[in-house]
Amino acid sequence: MAKSIAVLGSTGSIGTQTLDVAEREGDIAVRALTARSNIKLLEEQIRKFRPALAAVADEKKAAELRAAVADTSTRVLGGERGVIECAAEAGSDTVVTAVVGIAGLRPTVAAIEAGKDIALANKETLVTAGGIVMPLARERGVKILPVDSEHSAIFQSIADQKRFLKRIIITASGGPFFGMSRAELAGKTRADALKHPNWTMGAKITVDSATLVNKGLEIIEASHLFGLGVDDITPVVHRESIVHSLVEFCDGSVIGQLGVADMRLPIAYALTYPERKIPVTAPLDLVKIGSLTFYDIDNAAFPAVELAKKAARAGGTMPAVLNGANEEAVAAFLEDRCGFLDITDLIAEAMEAHRPTASPSLDDIAAADLEARYAVRRRLGR
Ligand code: NDP
Ligand code: MG
Repeated sequence: MAKSIAVLGSTGSIGTQTLDVAEREGDIAVRALTARSNIKLLEEQIRKFRPALAAVADEKKAAELRAAVADTSTRVLGGERGVIECAAEAGSDTVVTAVVGIAGLRPTVAAIEAGKDIALANKETLVTAGGIVMPLARERGVKILPVDSEHSAIFQSIADQKRFLKRIIITASGGPFFGMSRAELAGKTRADALKHPNWTMGAKITVDSATLVNKGLEIIEASHLFGLGVDDITPVVHRESIVHSLVEFCDGSVIGQLGVADMRLPIAYALTYPERKIPVTAPLDLVKIGSLTFYDIDNAAFPAVELAKKAARAGGTMPAVLNGANEEAVAAFLEDRCGFLDITDLIAEAMEAHRPTASPSLDDIAAADLEARYAVRRRLGR
């Protein structure tokens, strides 16, 4: 086998597509799988991929799964500690971080400490703790290979020209509410927000795409991955999701990466890098697409990108507050406990109330995350 992987969050959108890529590539061994609670799907995956280890964050569900797969050789662990053990599992060389939210942070740090390369889907890791994670990866000599489509595009476009990099142009689909005013956005519901025009993803990131918080998080993620300030990363709405992002070099030349909108492409590249192996998507038919369009972000209707840049400029624990408030507000929105526009309002309020700690530890980041969540819960009367 060319590669051995652990997939954290294997039952989610990125997780299932990662296993699809592993199966199609044919020379990728799956050593560990984890989920939060979906043990039905995790059991199917265990029977198919026969990993040495599996973990379920929900301890009760872990016990159920342990009984269900007692006839296999897979050892089933429970809780966050179980997920962390899977991340550091001895037999894998690459860990795919496809957990959603800040829950992905500590397992990713454990994987880096164990010397694993990271195929990074969990953007919340770099948003909340890029200042810890990137230096740690350098110190341990491990690669952080981006799975997020924009970051994969930027990575591929930079190639070996990093020293000439001047600016990043990060594309955004604009989500389902592109072109709408704040008045039109006010009444948008969970069902409206979950209808993404170009991508099928987990619920949290789909809402983040509708608010454009996703683009804000991605700008912070890119600033850590590629070493530019957030003001050198320009977002542009590109409705067709064909140009996945571009870079501008010091001579004015702009290079971008194009492809069919299919997450299996950046997943496969992160797993086979620096090689490219099998055809992953259908060929791109530019004539059929006809035209590619680009627009400015409407910052008045969608304040999320400016909020994220503000959080990054404040630095320290402020991006963790932006992220924690967003996770809490999105969870409330998905349960119809707050409105669409409340999401960014709640983030702004949590940031306003926070005094950031400079050069935070992982514990400082966890505390800031909790502070933001409590601020949102208090505002929502919980
Ligand atoms: P999903 O919600 O589809 O999947 C999340 C996965 O993480 C599931 O396996 C889930 O388990 C598990 N999980 C959730 N919470 C916890 C927890 N507290 N502890 C341990 N495991 C947990 O998310 P996506 O696949 O959409 O996104 C995953 C990450 O990738 C996110 O950070 C997202 O921003 C990023 N990303 C996703 C893209 C996409 O196309 N989906 C594109 C680019 C980036 P269970 O199924 O049991 O709940
Ligand atoms: Mg993305």
